[in-house]
Amino acid sequence: MRNAEEQFIAQALAKLGPRAVVTDPADIAPWVTDWRGRVHGATPAMIAPASTDEVADVVRLAAEHRVPLVPQGGNTGMSAGATPPADGSAVLLSMRRMNRIRSISAENRLAVAEAGVILAPLHDAVHEVGMRFPLTLGARGSCTIGGLTSTNAGGTQVLKFGTMRSLVAGVEAVLPDGSIHTGLSGLKKDNRGYSIDQLLIGAEGTLGVITAVALRLVPAVTARAVAWTGVASPMRALDLLRFLEARTSSIEGFELVPQDSLQLVLKHVPGTRPPLDGTHPWHVLIEATTSDSATRVGGELERLLGTALKQGIIGDAVLASNEAQAEAFWKLRDAISEAERAEGQTLAHDISVAVADMPAFILNASEQVERAFPGVVASGFGHLGDGNIHFHVRAASHAAPNWYEAEGLQITRFVDDLVTAAGGSISAEHGIGQLKRAEFARLAEPGRVQALRAIKNALDPLGIMNPGKLVP
Ligand SMILES: Cc1cc2nc3c(=O)[nH]c(=O)nc-3n(C[C@H](O)[C@H](O)[C@H](O)COP(=O)(O)OP(=O)(O)OC[C@H]3O[C@@H](n4cnc5c(N)ncnc54)[C@H](O)[C@@H]3O)c2cc1C
Repeated sequence: MRNAEEQFIAQALAKLGPRAVVTDPADIAPWVTDWRGRVHGATPAMIAPASTDEVADVVRLAAEHRVPLVPQGGNTGMSAGATPPADGSAVLLSMRRMNRIRSISAENRLAVAEAGVILAPLHDAVHEVGMRFPLTLGARGSCTIGGLTSTNAGGTQVLKFGTMRSLVAGVEAVLPDGSIHTGLSGLKKDNRGYSIDQLLIGAEGTLGVITAVALRLVPAVTARAVAWTGVASPMRALDLLRFLEARTSSIEGFELVPQDSLQLVLKHVPGTRPPLDGTHPWHVLIEATTSDSATRVGGELERLLGTALKQGIIGDAVLASNEAQAEAFWKLRDAISEAERAEGQTLAHDISVAVADMPAFILNASEQVERAFPGVVASGFGHLGDGNIHFHVRAASHAAPNWYEAEGLQITRFVDDLVTAAGGSISAEHGIGQLKRAEFARLAEPGRVQALRAIKNALDPLGIMNPGKLVP
């Protein structure tokens, strides 16, 4: 450990007390590897402040000693943004002790939650006052509001409610010089120039430490209907979405699932069953909700799917008859990554292109990847209505254990080139972190990179906030 780090840790200990400063390697170990287990870091200490003032103290000390900080929430991020560098040169700043919901106002339709609040308990707390925070995703039991905001997370309800960026009304944060930005007023209109709040959303901890967030709420759902449909192609799936959207405003989940992914789930995940008789090359999971108790959302969806069937848009459909079945349908979608992991090595690409271009992109890109890399299986699943799918490439069954290293990089470059040529993004909702930084540097337009660097240098001239992440 360098002298500067030793002094920084000793002074943080003196200021914040022993509960806030963890140096035992066994206690730190679970937090220095990313969720996917691909990137292993090291750190001499994990500092866990319990208030905004304590975060400001830590950031000021870090600036004084030039010790980089790596903010971390639930460590569920998919791009290793919260994993410290392997040389142990940075200190982990865990936000999990800042876990208070400061206020919930049904009248203002706002909740103010500290950065370390976990998403699932926040859902429960706002539900108690008849409200709902509509963003949700598979990691809701461990991801934090600070991490969701810092990655501008998406999830399964973006179709209706947008990503974190549209659900955050304001941010409180400690900036790299230790000053506190307070943006929690929840003002609907505020045109005092650049939005610091929006700059911090999706900044992946490179511009400051988010300490609390004002979140927009909507009325709680009174009923939901979940359906599983079989379709002939991704084109037909998009036709179905447009058909439904033209006739109802209740659709908020629309997830594309290829037959190959469904088969893997049925093979590896105990207790799963195919929802439909017969096989279909593609499937769509649909969720419709209402917060109006007079609306019969199940009946409406059933009727619309009946018409879609008659018009040949879909091949078959079934509506979940109760909540347990609805959850079983969602499990088939949520378990795809888990099933792929059980099957073997899989490369994940979280990509987006224009919504209307996505069906053809999935088919063409899959075919091109499988032709260029014989033996692999490529397919796309996920948020078709957002133009965002998880384009996964699975190794051949006989692939060597070092497939990721041997062929993975080439495949990823191939996929990213196809996405870029289609005018898309190589990171739709998972951020850049450290896993996508080289590809971002290779493919981003020079103007975008220059602007990112200029913003980073202006706000963090000492480079102490999460160096080596996001900014090429
Ligand atoms: C099973 C599973 C399903 C998922 N599904 C989705 C999905 O559908 N859609 C989607 O968008 N994402 C999804 N994700 C990834 C998603 O990005 C994370 O779950 C979540 O956004 C990260 O929250 P976290 O608290 O774990 O952040 P971490 O992983 O701890 O950190 C993520 C990034 O944010 C920074 N950060 C964290 N807290 C702060 C803070 N307080 N201030 C400043 N910077 C901070 C970190 O430095 C890092 O760069 C999924 C992850 C898993 C494991």
